[in-house]
Amino acid sequence: MSVSREELIRAAATFGTPLYVYHAESITGQYHKLADAFAALDARFFYAAKALTNLSILKHIRSIGCSIDCSSINEVKLALHAGFAPDQILYTSNSVAFSEIQEAVTLGVSVTIDSLSNLEKFAIAYGGHYPVGVRIRPNIMAGGNTKISTGHAGSKFGIPIERVESLQQLVTTYGMQLRTLHIHTGSEISEASVFVRGVELLLELANIFPTVSVIDLGGGFKVPYRPNEKETDLVAIAQPVAKAFADFTHKTGRQLQVWFEPGKYLVAQAGYLLTTVTVIKPTDTICFVGVNSGLNHLIRPMFYEAYHNISNLTNSEGALHCYQVTGNICETDDFALAREIPEVREGDLLAFHNAGAYGFEMASSYNARVRPAEVLCINGQQQIIRRRESFDDLLTLQIMM
Ligand code: PLP
Repeated sequence: MSVSREELIRAAATFGTPLYVYHAESITGQYHKLADAFAALDARFFYAAKALTNLSILKHIRSIGCSIDCSSINEVKLALHAGFAPDQILYTSNSVAFSEIQEAVTLGVSVTIDSLSNLEKFAIAYGGHYPVGVRIRPNIMAGGNTKISTGHAGSKFGIPIERVESLQQLVTTYGMQLRTLHIHTGSEISEASVFVRGVELLLELANIFPTVSVIDLGGGFKVPYRPNEKETDLVAIAQPVAKAFADFTHKTGRQLQVWFEPGKYLVAQAGYLLTTVTVIKPTDTICFVGVNSGLNHLIRPMFYEAYHNISNLTNSEGALHCYQVTGNICETDDFALAREIPEVREGDLLAFHNAGAYGFEMASSYNARVRPAEVLCINGQQQIIRRRESFDDLLTLQIMM
């Protein structure tokens, strides 16, 4: 555990549950692992903010030298608010109104476009005056789950590779400054070969676009969720990728930069969702453990069948029993089926691990239940970085007739 059991118990006692707790030093450690693995390349890392946008987390990520990738104009504004300079911000749009892209240009950030339709509007508006990136759909199947596979032939993301001629025509006609070729094939990619195939494909494309100076390989590095799972082997990716770039430079004389957009890899393991057991309900076949949270706070198990390790913080040495851990929402919101956990009693504190990425960020106030508070452990201190929502917050935006 990157935050000790005692510290998690202390956080729950101080701030109440349900509570998200993050560990700043774990984020820093993951960032350094990436930077070290790709040190042989001219590499830049853009944290995919969609994983977790709390401003204090963004500030911490900026402080360690990482840039930021934003998927909406409001994420761009949050990044600016957290102190990122425009040249540290990448805006990767998909299916957005062109006005949002124009706003990003006005803010001076790097822009990646994922359709020929928006690219043509961009060409008409800016010609060759503003550098631009394009997201390519490489028709590669990758990622841990169909919902998080984004580069295959049926995916909505990117300009399909089979439309490259149209892309070339647009770029030539308008004299565009095509700076970046981008792919993001999915999340939780464990095979290095996926990155290598992606690089080969983009370097081939770079041959036909002489203005390209950046290859952006997106995110998707896997972190272990289940007990025996492994993290993506960064060295196994870095070596062939570095070789492909060196070969390209050797053949063409062009030096390219490589960009990555890690989300989960930086923040997943740094986060915990702490909950309190409200009800134990034994039946003839299943013993249900109900907690004071649900799909409104951590939707990944229900949305992606994601596995989150669960520990019983207040009875860690208890005998193992088999439980179905479930939420308090009026839907089936099971966090875990047939899971062995040290004996659980009402009032125990359960920690859901690896909850930093796509946890709080996907939370809602469904069932009129408020969203949890967030706490950052940094330099041995526990800082509240978002207060718990209140009933008044649920009323704030409503206008009663
Ligand atoms: N980049 C893009 C364009 C994405 O769509 C995503 C995730 O959806 C990411 C990066 C981050 O992916 P991950 O959190 O798996 O690293």
